[in-house]
Amino acid sequence: MTVLAEAAGPFAFDNSYARLPDRFFVRQQPVPVATPRLVRLNESLARHLGLDAAQLATAEGIAFLAGNRVPEGGEPLAMAYAGHQFGSFVPQLGDGRAILLGEVIDRDGVRRDIQLKGAGRTPFSRQGDGRAALGPVLREYILSESMAALGIPTTRALAAVTTGETVWREGPLPGAVLTRIASSHIRVGTFQFFAARGDRDAITNLADYVIGRHYPEALEAENRYRALLDGVISRQAELVAKWLLVGFIHGVMNTDNTSIAGETIDYGPCAFMDSYHPQTVYSSIDTMGRYAYGNQPNIAQWNLVRFAETILPLLAEDEDGAVKAAQNAIDAFAPGFETAWAGGFSRKLGLLRPRPDDLSLAQDILQRMAKNRADFTLTFRRLCDAVDGPAAVRDLFADPTAFDDWESKWRSRIAEEDCEPNPRQAAMRAANPAFIPRNHLVEEAIAAAVYNGDFAPFETLLEVLSTPFDDQPDFARYADPPRPDQVVHQTFCGT
Ligand code: AMP
Ligand code: MG
Repeated sequence: MTVLAEAAGPFAFDNSYARLPDRFFVRQQPVPVATPRLVRLNESLARHLGLDAAQLATAEGIAFLAGNRVPEGGEPLAMAYAGHQFGSFVPQLGDGRAILLGEVIDRDGVRRDIQLKGAGRTPFSRQGDGRAALGPVLREYILSESMAALGIPTTRALAAVTTGETVWREGPLPGAVLTRIASSHIRVGTFQFFAARGDRDAITNLADYVIGRHYPEALEAENRYRALLDGVISRQAELVAKWLLVGFIHGVMNTDNTSIAGETIDYGPCAFMDSYHPQTVYSSIDTMGRYAYGNQPNIAQWNLVRFAETILPLLAEDEDGAVKAAQNAIDAFAPGFETAWAGGFSRKLGLLRPRPDDLSLAQDILQRMAKNRADFTLTFRRLCDAVDGPAAVRDLFADPTAFDDWESKWRSRIAEEDCEPNPRQAAMRAANPAFIPRNHLVEEAIAAAVYNGDFAPFETLLEVLSTPFDDQPDFARYADPPRPDQVVHQTFCGT
C-alpha cells in the first residue's frame, strides 16, 4: 500500500479534461527552470487535497511545483480559450503561460485542477514569455487566499516557488511559478472559443462536461443546458454580490477571466478599496473605468450574455425559442444579484430580520461614505462596536455629522428588533472583516520579497489574513487604512 502510494507520486491524478477531444487543448510539458526554491507551501490546502505536504517540500516535490519534473499521472496541457477583452473579441487566447498538470479529488470529493502558472511558453503564448514574475505570483497568492478566508468562492494557491531565472517586464524581475488550484479553469471564453469556430459538437461536449463536473443538478431539468445557464448566472450573481460586500474590485473582468464554476479567477491588477467610492478603479489598464467597483454587476451580466450566446443552439430547437430562453435566464441575474447583495448588506448592518425598506438605509450610508471618503472596511467593522456603545465610526467621515444623521436612523431600526447586543455584534463581526489585503500592505510584502529577498512580511500578512473576522490586537496596524503617503492609487497586471 505505502509502496504503491510512493510510486504514484504525491498526486492521485484523474485527468478528465485530458480525455476531452484533442481540439480542447494542446499537450504541453512545462519548461524547466534553473534553480527552483520553495517560497511557500499551503500545507492545510495540501492536506485538503489529500497531498503529502512533507513530500511536496522535498527537492523532488519542489521540482514538481516548478515544472522541472512532471509527477506520475500528470498529463500536462494548455487549455484553449477565447475571450472578450475590454469588450473586444479575441478568438484565440488560451493558456499562454499556465499548464494544467492534472486533476485530483479533494477530501470533500470535489475534483480540483492543479495548474502551474508561469510554467513556460505554450502554443498560445503569442508574444509572451510564458513566465510569471515573483510580484504578481505573491499578489495572487495573498489575494486568493484572503478571498478564501473571507468565504468567497475563489481559486486557491497551493505553492509559490522562485525559479532562479530573470523575467523581463519594465526591467529585470525574479521569476516564479504559482501552483493554482481551481474547481476548474473553464471560462466563459472556453465556450466562446468553440462558438467562434461554429463547432457545435464541441459546445455540446463542453456543456455536458461542465454539467457533469459543476452543475450535476441540471441533469434533472427538462432542458439541461437551460439549467446550466441558470446555474452559471446564479453563481456569478452571488459571486459579484460577495465581491461588492467586501469592497473587492477584480480589475479585469474579461470573459476569459470569468469562471464557469463561479469562482474568482485570474488575480491581476485587482484590489480591495480603501475609502469608498463606487467609481473606484485601481487597474492601470482600465482607463475607461469599464471594470470600476460599481460597474461589476453590469459587466458580469454582459459576460453572461456572451456565455448565453455560445449555447443558444442548445437552448431550443428554433432560434426564437432559444433567444427567449436565454433572455429569461439573463433576466434572473439582476434579482439574483440584488437579493444576494441586500441579504449580505443586512448582515453587515446587523439587521437580523431584514425588510425591503432596509435597502434605503444601506444606500444612505454608502452615499454618505462616498461623499466623505470613509474607509469601506473599517466603517463596517467599527459599526459592530457601535451596537453597545459609542464607537469611532464618525471619525472615518470627512464630515463626521454625515455619520451621526445616519446613525440615529440605524439605531432606531435595530431597536425595533428585540435582540441582545452580543449576538447582534457577533453576527456583524462575522459579516464585516477587520482584515482585508490592503493595497499598501500587499505592496509592502511584495517589495520586501522582490527587492530584498525578505519573505517575512509576506508570511505575516498571510497569517493575519487567514482569520480576517477575528480581532488580532497584535496586528492592529494591518486593519488600519493607509496614511496619505501610503495610499496606492494604481495596481498593475505585471504579466
Ligand atoms: P491574463 O491577463 O493573465 O488574463 O492573460 C490574458 C492572456 O494573455 C492569456 O491568454 C494568457 O495566457 C496570456 N498571457 C499573459 N501573460 C503571458 C506571458 N507572460 N506569456 C504568455 N502568455 C501570457
Ligand atoms: Mg486571464
